[in-house]
Amino acid sequence: MTKQKICIVGDGLSGLMTAAVLAKVPGVEVNLIAKKGTKIKDKRTTAISDTNLKFINQNITSLGQKLFWPSKKIELFYETSKGKINFLNLNEANSNLMYVFENDKVKSALMKEVLKNKTKLIRKDVKNLDEFKNYDLVILCMGGQSKIYNEMTKIRSIKKDYKEVAITGYVKHSFKILNASQFFLKEGPLAILPFSKNYFSFVWSVKKYFFKNNSKKITSLVKNKIVEMLKNKQDITISNIQSYPISLSLRRQYHQKNILILGEGLHTIHPVAGQGFNLVLRDIKKLKAIIKYYVGLGISIKNSYALNDFYNSRKPENTIMSLGVDATHSFFKQNKYLDPFKEIIVKNIKNNETLKKFSKIISNRGLSL
Ligand SMILES: Cc1cc2nc3c(=O)[nH]c(=O)nc-3n(C[C@H](O)[C@H](O)[C@H](O)COP(=O)(O)OP(=O)(O)OC[C@H]3O[C@@H](n4cnc5c(N)ncnc54)[C@H](O)[C@@H]3O)c2cc1C
Repeated sequence: MTKQKICIVGDGLSGLMTAAVLAKVPGVEVNLIAKKGTKIKDKRTTAISDTNLKFINQNITSLGQKLFWPSKKIELFYETSKGKINFLNLNEANSNLMYVFENDKVKSALMKEVLKNKTKLIRKDVKNLDEFKNYDLVILCMGGQSKIYNEMTKIRSIKKDYKEVAITGYVKHSFKILNASQFFLKEGPLAILPFSKNYFSFVWSVKKYFFKNNSKKITSLVKNKIVEMLKNKQDITISNIQSYPISLSLRRQYHQKNILILGEGLHTIHPVAGQGFNLVLRDIKKLKAIIKYYVGLGISIKNSYALNDFYNSRKPENTIMSLGVDATHSFFKQNKYLDPFKEIIVKNIKNNETLKKFSKIISNRGLSL
């Protein structure tokens, strides 16, 4: 039986992960298209849930456990004029709440896996959609900015420019214990994500004008802020500072004929809750199950309802989760009229066991309860 040909475009986390996972489906042949040339290294880290790591491990055994640093506890703080309130502590005694990995390390491990699977790697810059006539399925994982999507989607996306920038970087430290934490500060949310014994990464989302006005002294500004928040006098070293513009973009059309958009191109969301790639992983899991089903029945993906099935099963969760993250971001945004009420709400959250349980389940499994 001839294999069905799948082409994946883009060697970001979404494209590489999709290529590595789909190559294992019997009856399909995967090609991966990636741009030529050297790129700026992605020195971010990504936090993923326990369920999502299980999915990765089940599908790609070669990645191993070492690349993923576990966290059993997550602490959330809200900054007020009188100090910061520790309003939510999530912990798990017998399992891990999340895992943090370094993007560049996981990307190179995934590329090795892709090449090991004998996936054909084609180096080129895709310019238009006419290049894909010979494929049964094309999956575009070209990030959030590609203009090519406009060639295929007629329905306008839900869009919002937060006018914010995420400042990211690594911090070397010698603290004894450090938990993952999120500080909702006046300037914007600051996340601390441990990814090895002596390193954590940070993501600090701030207004664009704040970033611009402080661009020359950003390292010292971040350092002082982290020292102040962690209340730890030991010296820390900051490296790998990068910045990423932040926006919300939710596609309302996922595919055109046999061409599907996946990854940041489908849903770009605020990094405040660390949910973007978690949604992508659940998309990949569903897509794999659908492709396996149709190919298993001997039905050509090209002429099937596979992509409609994918759209119908993933759109509700992607929309609700993304808008939920947007609502969380709006709630914590500084507002002189609402801030006194927020303080009261935040103090009440601390003792709400149901809310704690609910937030743990949602961040672990999404809405697939
Ligand atoms: C600051 C920040 C922190 C984040 N933290 C988290 C987190 O903790 N947890 C979480 O779940 N998510 C997080 N996310 C989201 C996560 O980073 C993304 O979901 C993830 O990186 C997937 O990106 P992607 O592969 O879809 O897109 P990209 O990384 O943008 O990759 C797109 C790829 O397509 C290629 N490409 C583009 N155009 C072409 C072309 N014409 N031809 C060929 N190739 C092309 C590019 O070269 C690139 O390799 C965060 C995001 C940000 C901004």
